Amino acid sequence: MTVRVRFAPSPTGYLHIGSARTALFNFLYARSKGGKFLLRIEDTDLERSTEESVKSILEGLEWLGLTPDEEIVFQSRNKEKHVATAFRLLETGKAYRDFTPKEETVTSKNIKEAIVERAREKKDLRNNPYRDLPKEESDRRAAAGEPFAIRLKVPREGKTCFEDAVYGLQEREFSDIEDLVLLRSDGHPLYNLAVVCDDIEMGITDVIRGQDHLTNTHKQILIYEALGVTPPRFAHLPLILAPGGKKLSKRYHGEIVSLTTYRDAGFLPEAFRNFLALLGWSPKNNKEIMTMEELIENFSLEGIHKSNAIFNFDPNNPKRWTDDKAIWMNSEYIRTMPLEKLLPYVKEELKKAKLWREEYDKDERVWFERTVDVIRERFFTLKDFSTQGRAYFAEDYDFDEKAVEKNLKKHPELQTLMPELASKLEKLNEFTHDQIEQAIRSFVEEKQISFGIVMNAARTLLTGTAVGPSIFTVFELLGKEKSTMRLRSQIPWNQN
Ligand code: GLU
Repeated sequence: MTVRVRFAPSPTGYLHIGSARTALFNFLYARSKGGKFLLRIEDTDLERSTEESVKSILEGLEWLGLTPDEEIVFQSRNKEKHVATAFRLLETGKAYRDFTPKEETVTSKNIKEAIVERAREKKDLRNNPYRDLPKEESDRRAAAGEPFAIRLKVPREGKTCFEDAVYGLQEREFSDIEDLVLLRSDGHPLYNLAVVCDDIEMGITDVIRGQDHLTNTHKQILIYEALGVTPPRFAHLPLILAPGGKKLSKRYHGEIVSLTTYRDAGFLPEAFRNFLALLGWSPKNNKEIMTMEELIENFSLEGIHKSNAIFNFDPNNPKRWTDDKAIWMNSEYIRTMPLEKLLPYVKEELKKAKLWREEYDKDERVWFERTVDVIRERFFTLKDFSTQGRAYFAEDYDFDEKAVEKNLKKHPELQTLMPELASKLEKLNEFTHDQIEQAIRSFVEEKQISFGIVMNAARTLLTGTAVGPSIFTVFELLGKEKSTMRLRSQIPWNQN
């Protein structure tokens, strides 16, 4: 049987990185088995579902390269089928009508009481007075217009069991499961029923989802059994926790949990996807940097960890707002991916920062490619190309305060020496790495000044920073005109 899996997010917020990982694992599993990856938007909670959230989910999946293989299913559009299924279960005696009057609306004042009451009710649910109401009476009351909910008639004795691909054998006594509501008295089908109906309709063979759904799975298996359908295989994924063990949630961790944060912060989708794949899974060969093809080739449910994964960031430290490994991985990708694959991303970033010039695609293409290739060595995110790398693409770059202090102001004599160096370099007929180096070496000898001091000063004047690629390469990339103009710049000297 062809593997068919689905990612089934509820569109009630932005795409959480945990959900993104669930989507990725489903996708990798489908691809590794030659199966299909489907998307179902679980938008039955009409009050909380938003168009915007659907958009953010689709954008996030697209960014990660997880395109569904078939048309998207919107759960709300299947409502009639869910209702019909509840009635079918009623017909076959697997469910019953519950005429208990609707609970009074819960307000914050009586919320505590309501919780206690509900817990008590749950315990008593096997003794629901309507569970064994004779069919004729149930039909008669319904026909008379009395409102009712439909509940699953959970068998009195026995247990549900299934073999979870990650957590192994899972069992639960029927006595621990309430007669769950399938259809509310207002005609609204409930979550577990909707999921089972849709999974059957979509021909889902494997359900791969968060571990927080384990208790639902037992209830869903009961529904499959009541319907006489063999349940799919299940694989529950470990949670992603914040350092300290709290669940990674929007409430406590804000934007950190949103996938788009990483896109907007200059992560490469290839790198972030790779990072996500390793949150709770590792390949047999323990390789870390993997292309999509390698991820697919190595992916298996057996490689999923039972222990929860930690997203290792420090919310109080702006420099460590995201996982160190995520940043490391991104820098690895930036440094080592084929240049032609990186260039479009850099172009996009420069466009966003209004630093892009059409010439970079035409006459200055060679220059542009070389520059990106040289400066990417030290960059961590795409943003670095427009911030730390700004001096290569614009004149209005910033001078790092510390660099100015240490490399310029500590040596006041440089304020006149650097313009002199500019005049010397201007005379070069060829402005190449070796020629520049020679000229500078003879300059420092002549002036009896340390080579290192001049190098550092030149770097700060030319790029605004204290670190970067080989300074002779920087000179070469910027060209004679810009380099000499910058050596003469008084801006950093006058900066406070
Ligand atoms: N809609 C559920 C969620 O977002 C997922 C349901 C499922 O995967 O079965 O948590």
